Amino acid sequence: MEQPIAETEGRSFDGGCHCGAIRFRVQGPLRQILMCHCSDCLKISGTSWGASAARAENLDWLTEARPRWYRSSDWAERGFCSECGSQMFYRMDDRPLISIAPGAFDSSEMLSVAGQIFRSSHPAWGPVGSEITDLDNG
Ligand SMILES: [Zn+2]
Ligand SMILES: [Zn+2]
Repeated sequence: MEQPIAETEGRSFDGGCHCGAIRFRVQGPLRQILMCHCSDCLKISGTSWGASAARAENLDWLTEARPRWYRSSDWAERGFCSECGSQMFYRMDDRPLISIAPGAFDSSEMLSVAGQIFRSSHPAWGPVGSEITDLDNG
């Protein structure tokens, strides 16, 4: 995993959706936040989306409810709560990582933004954070 947060190794972090139907616990290491301004993220979340990440095998569900998965492209799907709509997860096919939205964690004090992608395709009204490193050099 790129940009793992050393302090999160061996620790666990709890989170869940807005309505509480879905709760999860994930074991570190977590990855720093990457912001994404692609057209899929803008359309699905309303604005830019961003996520930390962890190894998918390190994620456990604490509730019986599970995310509903929406296939947003040929290569990835997004997990959200079908009750409250919280968009918490993103996973690419055949990748060992699951992306987790920072806001899904009960506390996200351990995270910071490490980079962003697709900034150049964002509409003129944004995005904020133009001082953040463009990882795609776009
Ligand atoms: Zn919910
Ligand atoms: Zn995106």
